[in-house]
Amino acid sequence: MNLTERDKLYNWHPYTQHKTANKFPAIVKGKDALLWDENNKEYIDAIASWWVNPFGHSNTVIADAIYKQLTTLEHVLFGGFTHEPAVLLAEKLMEILPSNQKKLFYSDNGSTSVEVAIKVAMQYFYNQNSKRTKIIAFEDAFHGDTFAAMAASGISFFTEAFQGSLLQVDRIPVPTKGNEEKTIQALEELVQTNEYAAFIFEPLVQGAAGMVMYSPEILDKLLTICKQNNVFTIADEVMTGFGKTGKTFASDYLTHNPDMMCLSKALTGGTIPMAITTFTQEIFDGFYDEDTNKALFHGHTFTANPTGCAAALASIELLQTDEIQSSITRINQSHLNFENVIKNHPKVKTTRVLGVIFALEIVTNSEESYYGKLRNKLYDFFIENGVILRPVGNIVYILPPYIISQNQLEKVYQTIEKALELA
Ligand SMILES: *Cc1c(COP(=O)(O)O)cnc(C)c1O
Repeated sequence: MNLTERDKLYNWHPYTQHKTANKFPAIVKGKDALLWDENNKEYIDAIASWWVNPFGHSNTVIADAIYKQLTTLEHVLFGGFTHEPAVLLAEKLMEILPSNQKKLFYSDNGSTSVEVAIKVAMQYFYNQNSKRTKIIAFEDAFHGDTFAAMAASGISFFTEAFQGSLLQVDRIPVPTKGNEEKTIQALEELVQTNEYAAFIFEPLVQGAAGMVMYSPEILDKLLTICKQNNVFTIADEVMTGFGKTGKTFASDYLTHNPDMMCLSKALTGGTIPMAITTFTQEIFDGFYDEDTNKALFHGHTFTANPTGCAAALASIELLQTDEIQSSITRINQSHLNFENVIKNHPKVKTTRVLGVIFALEIVTNSEESYYGKLRNKLYDFFIENGVILRPVGNIVYILPPYIISQNQLEKVYQTIEKALELA
């Protein structure tokens, strides 16, 4: 039996209906933007393995940092102890985060970073004996799969089975072009009740919804409304963080800073699972008290794992190199050129570009569901042609590693162009 067949015996894969799923290629090797399966077939990883991998696979700079840390201090508990990588990483993040972010809390993945943010928002008010227990989020948001993160997520088939067991979240429309006033109105109505602890959002780009984009100007307005009504704002930068939008954080496009930020995915360059939630001093101070009960009783076994911190430090240093910064600019420019070419194609409904993110919507006759027929046809075509892209319904997007070569990127574009014939 090959790896694919052996996998099938025991492994349960994410977001997978195993009864109808195709065979999964078994990837045995990765280098830069490329992956190889056990039959030596080559794939371009055009979505950076779910947006985690900006510096490419098997990056030796990060690998060396990890090896060095593993053989110095692989792990120590963060309850009651600290260590150099956590101190260095905190100092480094303070240099690059929006200036109002003053404290960091470590966890393991994007969902837990959101859990922490939501729990902190709710307990902040609880500590003051005030009752704000509800959350505001966008329609079609995605914030993760654990319970609070799932409650904040608005993509219904992810959460349907659990309705009734979830935190109370009220939704406002996504302020895409033309919908801004509707969103403002909906937010203003909600915040007046004084029942909401926080508004959580994916800043500028809703990833899982299919790279749905809206402007920094409208987000600034929403942040202002929240601020005026004592509702904390949580920028879930799990996808957008570390250069994806062309700036270090999507929040860097804003005039008003969010109160909290969630970071994961590219944080460690796609190597070690780790996440960080960041906070203003005001929020931290809401827990700072003689009273032990006012502390944040949250933690994970691997909180601030030194090896993860070392990987994150190496990743951020890579992100700051001229080479990577100019690659981000090159990819953006090249997306804009492709957009110009493809936007008039009869099968293309809309296109959008921000930073290294490119998305196009294919014209369809019927409503195309998230994991629908066209989506599966497109996905299979891409895999067959050695390009890893995961369309969302009728939306095809590219979010390549920053080190993708121009030739590889051109191949991705050409494959998408060919795929339009399937629609
Ligand atoms: C992926 C993602 C998450 C969840 O992260 P996991 O590591 O998969 O738990 C949360 N928020 C956003 C915006 C994401 O893109």
